[in-house]
Amino acid sequence: MEEESLIIIGAGPAGLTAALYAARANLSPLVITGNELGGQIAITSEVENYPGFDSILGPELADKMKAQAEKFGARFEYSSVTEVDFAHGSPFVVRTYIAERRAKAVIVATGASAKRLGIPGEEEFIGRGVSYCATCDGFFFKGKEALVVGGGDSALQESLFLTKYAERVRVVHRRESLRAGEFLKACVNENPKIEFVWETVIEEIRGDGAVQEVRVKNVRTGKAESLRADGVFVFIGHFPNTQLFAGQLAMDENSFIVTDRLMQTSVEGVFAAGEAQDPIYRQAVSSAGQGCQAAISAERWLATKGGA
Ligand SMILES: Cc1cc2nc3c(=O)[nH]c(=O)nc-3n(C[C@H](O)[C@H](O)[C@H](O)COP(=O)(O)OP(=O)(O)OC[C@H]3O[C@@H](n4cnc5c(N)ncnc54)[C@H](O)[C@@H]3O)c2cc1C
Repeated sequence: MEEESLIIIGAGPAGLTAALYAARANLSPLVITGNELGGQIAITSEVENYPGFDSILGPELADKMKAQAEKFGARFEYSSVTEVDFAHGSPFVVRTYIAERRAKAVIVATGASAKRLGIPGEEEFIGRGVSYCATCDGFFFKGKEALVVGGGDSALQESLFLTKYAERVRVVHRRESLRAGEFLKACVNENPKIEFVWETVIEEIRGDGAVQEVRVKNVRTGKAESLRADGVFVFIGHFPNTQLFAGQLAMDENSFIVTDRLMQTSVEGVFAAGEAQDPIYRQAVSSAGQGCQAAISAERWLATKGGA
């Protein structure tokens, strides 16, 4: 079985930054990308808060990160990790759909995925009007009626993006105020295509082959009604992609991997970075920073204890 110095699981900002640092430290890291090369930032539109770029499209930022890591010798396997064995210490076993490998050290950077509403019609209409990515699907709603669920930064950012295509964007939010940055709030309030449906939850998505309407309920008055919608875009938060490591790495009550200041997990030689271990900051730049920390720690650990 092949033995790697360092395997990085995940290719979002955390994994790609870890790959850059590890490659520059001559570790020739192997990055296993999962099915979202670039991670969540690759499915967003304009990124205006990544230092050094006034504004850059998410997929372009992800491409640049990957190219930079590759330039210094990072290697990529376009597969997903299906199983790991961390119980017996280094070298660790990492299985993908393609191969089984051993690695002296591992960095877990599997990030997070969009939460679902869990209501009738949601699963049925995924790809037929229900979406978790405005950048990917907004184009299909030219001149149509889009409904966004959520009230945080992502919901507002994606609502603004949708106004490029949709005739009207209605934001359904269960509270009476937004939980988003002031700049985004101002942009949204100035946009004539965006309307708010406050203190309201969505209970069912209906249609005939594709989304046509949603049933909503006002949480204060209890009044239920139907709203016409061609697309329902859901931005209600994320959960960490850590199921794979259950029972192997210590996690908190919300399944975020527990790390110390060195990004070291409960297993010596296994490090974690980005949204898989960070319930607080959840930004491209903070995830990238944690990827850098994890790679430097892994390099030092390999040099002193891991036999690299
Ligand atoms: C709509 C939206 C807009 C956003 N806008 C901004 C913004 O403007 N500015 C900003 O700073 N941040 C923004 N963010 C947040 C930012 O994208 C995240 O904080 C960042 O991408 C997290 O990086 P990460 O590397 O930890 O994880 P992710 O980006 O989630 O990447 C996880 C990686 O792990 C891989 N993976 C998962 N499971 C496996 C497996 N089993 N095997 C192998 N690989 C696996 C995935 O394929 C992916 O490559 C936005 C997020 C969203 C959803």
